[in-house]
Amino acid sequence: MAVVRGLNPILLAALAFACAPPPVPATVTPGEGSPPTFETPTVEAPTVEAPAPSFALAVHGGAGSVGGRSREQLRPHVASLTAALREGCALLDGGGKSLDVVERVVRLLEDDPLFNAGKGAVFTREGRHELDASIMDGRTRRSGAVAGVRTVKNPIALARAVMERTRHVLLAGEGADAFAQEVGMEPVPNEYFSTEERRQSLQRHLSDEGGTVGAVAFDRHGDLAAATSTGGLTGKRWGRVGDSPIIGAGTFADNQSCAVSCTGIGEEILKSSTAHAIAMRMTLGGEDIQAAAEAVLGGMPAGSAGVIAVSRRGEIALVHNTETMFRGACDAEGRLEVRIWADPETLPGRDPVD
Ligand code: ASP
Repeated sequence: MAVVRGLNPILLAALAFACAPPPVPATVTPGEGSPPTFETPTVEAPTVEAPAPSFALAVHGGAGSVGGRSREQLRPHVASLTAALREGCALLDGGGKSLDVVERVVRLLEDDPLFNAGKGAVFTREGRHELDASIMDGRTRRSGAVAGVRTVKNPIALARAVMERTRHVLLAGEGADAFAQEVGMEPVPNEYFSTEERRQSLQRHLSDEGGTVGAVAFDRHGDLAAATSTGGLTGKRWGRVGDSPIIGAGTFADNQSCAVSCTGIGEEILKSSTAHAIAMRMTLGGEDIQAAAEAVLGGMPAGSAGVIAVSRRGEIALVHNTETMFRGACDAEGRLEVRIWADPETLPGRDPVD
């Protein structure tokens, strides 16, 4: 057209600039409650940066039932999981490694007496505490785990020490407690883990209140990691070991497929190799993470388990066949949610702390 042919080069350049796509937001901090901040675009040389690599984090605080407690009574649990998610996703946003993030998030929940891991662990039949934990690095498949420890404040930190400072994967019982002291971890008395609520659970022979904790993460470097920590089942026998410290059962991570942390009845999870089964359905069967998690849990007895999983592309699956599962997720797109009951009854897309 004559009009276009008649435009001079400066006008054409201005037109091209006006039609260029808008610059992408430079920093978006997920779930902070305040609007995302945008860097002022450079007017002279408008460039569209490649989108930042994604990250994603999921946590759980145990599957089972909540024993008739109301949403109001469970607010502290939701607040604690939300705080752990916020901290974990802030670390991932800043380029933190998935392995560091899952350890950090699980540590926070171990220190919270509301959950059945670290402080607040359930009582064994003998009225003591025996703790299990494991961690796995999806980049290298390196793994570390401890079972039946009694004097270690943060079993997940000891699991990581087993991974990084021994040639073993799993240390159990007294040997694991002794190793903790060898690597400089101050022992705590076994009573440190006791809470009144857990004592009452033992007296009432409750065994299904859940409360195990776990985290799975996908970081900006494309690496996956998983971690799980528990006091096990209320009233368990001396020496009983569940799924949580068993790589492939309660915990699994492999950059080829996904990272998974399980919760529920350990004996059932052990029989199904739940975490590894999900990964194998993805690698060998080509299923997506949601389908793989649903298929594996669908093949297990109703009421037996829940999983959190994140794929090598950062997709999250939160699946359970129990009445409830404390679960939550956050990611680079600003998702931040915590749920307890089965999906239709919960608060989709809302930050329940509001
Ligand atoms: N899976 C854990 C165990 O059996 C318990 C739980 O997840 O609540 O030791």
